[in-house]
Amino acid sequence: MPTLNDWQPAQIGLAMAFLQELVIALGWLTTGWLLNNVRRPALHWAGFSLLSGGSFLNFVVSAHAQLELVRLLGNTLFMGALLLQTRGLLLFTRQPLQDRLSIGALGLLMGALWLWPSHADAPWRVATISALSCLCCLWTAMVIFRYMRREIVRSRWMALFTLPSLLGAAVLAHRAVMALLEPERLIQASMAGTSISLTSAMLWVLLSLSLELTLFGLVIFKLGGQLRRAARHDRLTGLLNRHAMDDVLTLERQRARRMGPPFSALMVDIDHFKQVNDRLGHAAGDHTLRTVAQHLRRHLRATDVVSRWGGEEFLVLLPATSRAEASHLAEKLCEGVRRLPIPWGGEDLRCTVSIGVAQWRAAGDTSDALLARADQALYCAKNGGRDRVCVEPTLVQTGHIAA
Ligand code: GH3
Ligand code: MG
Ligand code: MG
Repeated sequence: MPTLNDWQPAQIGLAMAFLQELVIALGWLTTGWLLNNVRRPALHWAGFSLLSGGSFLNFVVSAHAQLELVRLLGNTLFMGALLLQTRGLLLFTRQPLQDRLSIGALGLLMGALWLWPSHADAPWRVATISALSCLCCLWTAMVIFRYMRREIVRSRWMALFTLPSLLGAAVLAHRAVMALLEPERLIQASMAGTSISLTSAMLWVLLSLSLELTLFGLVIFKLGGQLRRAARHDRLTGLLNRHAMDDVLTLERQRARRMGPPFSALMVDIDHFKQVNDRLGHAAGDHTLRTVAQHLRRHLRATDVVSRWGGEEFLVLLPATSRAEASHLAEKLCEGVRRLPIPWGGEDLRCTVSIGVAQWRAAGDTSDALLARADQALYCAKNGGRDRVCVEPTLVQTGHIAA
């Protein structure tokens, strides 16, 4: 029975790496348990850590045990770890799963192990398995790169997330080539059971750590994005919330002050909305809110911004739009909502909106003053009988009543 003193430095390093992978696997299990939306990828990555830890442990054991089976198991564990990591990434980044490809890779691995089982066959076996693992690392890098390109076009440095996988691919490609160029060395090492040097062992540990860090980085990046989005959007309608709209308003004010032309604001309020809740329940009210919000978003220009300002109130910002143009657009919105079918429980609900229009006045105007004028105009529209548009400062009645 060998004691710790008999261990080579590479084995001690790999044994430590095994323990470290166990801790990381525990971290992924906890992450999956705490965060619903990354549960499946986190479980895959816990598997990735456990299998990589297992393959590290295999190096430690195989040096003493000299068991063919243990060594073969190590290769399978390593490949399985890489495939689990990639599958977790595909799930995490919502890209199509490619299970046939993974099964094919595992099949080729088994084929290589079956075809070249002995020490004398080590070069072919190592070259094939390293080439397969290299392709797997390239696949991982591609999945991450696609995700990065889709999610964060502007921050190109984020493509650095692919670096650990690319480095892994380079190391594996080098190993495959060297296995074929210097077969004798590999056969001797295989027979002596010293299949890994301290440098190689440390390189693997570092690569595995950086792959784990990449995965943690991706999760933090995604969660950060979700938090930022949740802080700025209304959950029910998906529109910007009041807080985000305040920022948009400030920016638009600064832009208009520096460069003109003026912008306009529409304060849109659903008429008698309380009755929808009272008559049909809150779910019908929520459905109505979502439908009206969608209608507003669809019928505005790409540069216009719409937000949920309060309960059943929406604030629309129209950059580079005069009072007259805004009033025309408000008329169209008002008419559109009037005709908008809202299917609910077998019947078509109908609702109307009242809209107040105000225009930014270049000198000395403030956001509060602009919104107060839009509110006042809305108040006029309500008092005038609802389902209509009012423009500050004079009352202009339109809609079906005026018609
Ligand atoms: P008016 O024509 O004067 O605007 O009358 P109204 O009934 O639309 O206005 P009121 O202020 O009396 O009622 C607004 C209602 O909107 C009361 C509140 O319960 C409802 N409400 C606010 N937020 C939500 C929500 O998120 N979902 C649902 N279902 N109802 C909401
Ligand atoms: Mg209302
Ligand atoms: Mg209201």
